Amino acid sequence: METKLEIKPIREWGLNIDRPVVISGPCSAESEEQMLETAIELRKDKRVSIFRAGIWKPRTRPNSFEGVGSIGLKWMQTVKKETGFPIATEVANVKHAYEALKYGVDLIWIGARTTVNPFAVQEIADVLQGTDIPILVKNPVNPDLELWIGAIERLMKVGVTKVGAIHRGFSSYDKSKYRNAPYWQLAIDLKLRFPSLALIGDPSHMGGRVDALAELSQKMLDLDYDGLMIESHRNPSVALSDAKQQLTPAALSDMLTPLILRYSDSDNKEVQANLEVLREQIDRFDDQLLSLMEERMKIVEKIGAFKKANNITILQSRRWDEIIKKNIEKGKEKGLSAEFVEKLLDSIHEESINHQNAVMNAK
Ligand code: PEP
Ligand code: MN
Repeated sequence: METKLEIKPIREWGLNIDRPVVISGPCSAESEEQMLETAIELRKDKRVSIFRAGIWKPRTRPNSFEGVGSIGLKWMQTVKKETGFPIATEVANVKHAYEALKYGVDLIWIGARTTVNPFAVQEIADVLQGTDIPILVKNPVNPDLELWIGAIERLMKVGVTKVGAIHRGFSSYDKSKYRNAPYWQLAIDLKLRFPSLALIGDPSHMGGRVDALAELSQKMLDLDYDGLMIESHRNPSVALSDAKQQLTPAALSDMLTPLILRYSDSDNKEVQANLEVLREQIDRFDDQLLSLMEERMKIVEKIGAFKKANNITILQSRRWDEIIKKNIEKGKEKGLSAEFVEKLLDSIHEESINHQNAVMNAK
C-alpha cells in the first residue's frame, strides 16, 4: 500500500532561502579555526545560505580520518553565532541524531551509507519524531530508487514534513568519469513521483574533483533541482577528507557565478504561447507514435496467428539481433543514440512478445 506522504516544499521550511539554495562548508569539521575561517569566507557570498560540516565521517576503509565527534558541534555553534549561518550536519545513528538536536543543528542529512540500512533510518526517524528539524536523505550508494524512497517514507511516517533528497550519485565497480555515477534517471523519477519534494544536488561527491563541479551543477539546475550542496575548505590541499573535491570559498564563488538559473515555468505570455505551440506538436507526435504502435501490434498478432498455425516459436533471436543492428545504424543517421534506439526497440519487442503470446495461447 502506498503511504500518503505530506511534504512541505523547501520554501516553507522557515530557513529563508531562495532557489537555488547553496549549502556549503567543509567535508569534515577539523578545528574551530578551520570551521570559522571557512564560514566567514563563505558568508561573503550571499548565494551561500547554509553551512555544512561532517562531524562523524563514515569512511570506506578504517584508519582514515573518521571525524572529530561531538566537539565539532560546539564549533558549529560558534559558526552559527559568529556568522548567522544555519548549520547542517550528517547523522548516521541514534546517538548522532540526539547530539545534533542537543546542539541546535538546523538541518540534518542522512548519508548515502546510512540510507541503505532501513534499521538505521528507522531508528533515526524515531528520534526525530515530534521535532521540526528539516531532513535531507542522500541517495543510497546503490542505484535503488525504492530504497531511497523507503528512507524518505520512514521519516514521513513519523510525521516529519520538512523532508528532501540529496542526489550524490551511485557507486560502481568500473572506473568512470565521476567518483559516483549520476544515473540521472533515478533522481528524475524521484522528482516525478514526489513533485514537491526538495531535491538538492551534491556535485562534490558525485564528481569527486573540483573541475567537474561546474558542469554537474549546471546540469542539476537545468533539471530543476532546488539547490546544491558543495564542499568548501579554507585550504583544500590540507583537508583531512575529500581534499580533491573541495574548493576554497573564493573558488566556489567563481564556480557559481557563470551558472545559469532556469525556471520550470515562465510568466511571460509570449514565451508561454510559443512553448504551447511546440508542445502541441509534441503531443501530436505522441498520438502518432501510439497509433503506429497500435498498427504495429495488429501485424504482430497476425504473425502470432501464423506462427501458431505453423508451429514456429515466438522468439527468433537472430532476427531480433539483425533488427536492432540495422536500426541502430539508421538511428545514428537521424541523430538518435544507439542506447536510445536499443531501449526503444527492446521495449516494443517485449510488448510484441506479450501480444503474440496472448494470440498463441488463447484458449
Ligand atoms: C558528506 O556529505 O560528507 C558525505 C559523507 O557524503 P555521502 O554520504 O554522499 O558519501
Ligand atoms: Mn565529503
